[in-house]
Amino acid sequence: MTDSRISLITGANKGIGFAAARLIGGTVLVGARDKGRGEAAVASLRDAGTDAHLVVLDVTDGASVAAAAAWIDNSFGRLDVLVNNAAAPVREWRTPPSAMTAELLREVYETNVIGPVAVINAMLPLLRRSAAGRIVNVSSRLGSVLLISDPATSLGRVNLLAYNSSKSALNSITVAYAKELRDTAIKVNSVNPGFCETDMAAEMPARDHVKLLTAEEGAAPVVAAALLPDDGPTGMFLGSDGLVPW
Ligand code: NDP
Repeated sequence: MTDSRISLITGANKGIGFAAARLIGGTVLVGARDKGRGEAAVASLRDAGTDAHLVVLDVTDGASVAAAAAWIDNSFGRLDVLVNNAAAPVREWRTPPSAMTAELLREVYETNVIGPVAVINAMLPLLRRSAAGRIVNVSSRLGSVLLISDPATSLGRVNLLAYNSSKSALNSITVAYAKELRDTAIKVNSVNPGFCETDMAAEMPARDHVKLLTAEEGAAPVVAAALLPDDGPTGMFLGSDGLVPW
């Protein structure tokens, strides 16, 4: 793909999404649910030479998702890359599964699971017009049932019911879309950015025992999956060191 690539990144006003917007090149559509925070991010990206445009997009709001797709259609007529990066803040660091509330579980699933499906379905007609569409679902090793099921490992000790299961569901969603789109030019993959020093990780207990990456380091495998060549993988869980177990 050339630098005429058009990429939409949800939740791109800060953290890994913002870093990915800086790294990805081409035209970047900065998804942000808050107009002011989005405008600030776009201004900063433009100052650094990125062709950035704001798309006000709350992934939990169907009208917002539909309006974003209509605006992209009118403005560009297609989409090459969709990065489903937005995720709800982790509020359950100190909440065991037995104390989980339906309200918190619903908030996490609305943003991390139902949101990406809504955004993919709204953007698919635009991605089908691309010569090389790419969908990147930003997941986590905490969504790997294999890795979290060993309580002896550091990942196994992080027992987040809502977040972990939402990312497992997102991984399953990746596989489902990859299957449906296997005979098209569109590739769909999950990506693990790794533990990164962002607002999401700020409340994490026992941070001293974890090596935190920068948001730029976390964005690198996300961008790599967005720029996969035509003979690259689809329906996989990718990390900076290769495949991550489901
Ligand atoms: P941040 O909390 O820094 O950023 C999250 C982004 O998502 C913000 O832009 C936020 O917007 C946005 N967002 C939240 N809810 C919505 C919504 N309903 N609609 C649109 N945007 C929304 O998180 P990170 O940058 O750390 O995380 C990015 C991705 O990486 C997430 O999918 C996360 O699960 C994943 N990840 C992160 C890891 C880490 O260690 N940081 C590790 C593994 C995976 P606002 O500013 O308005 O709140």
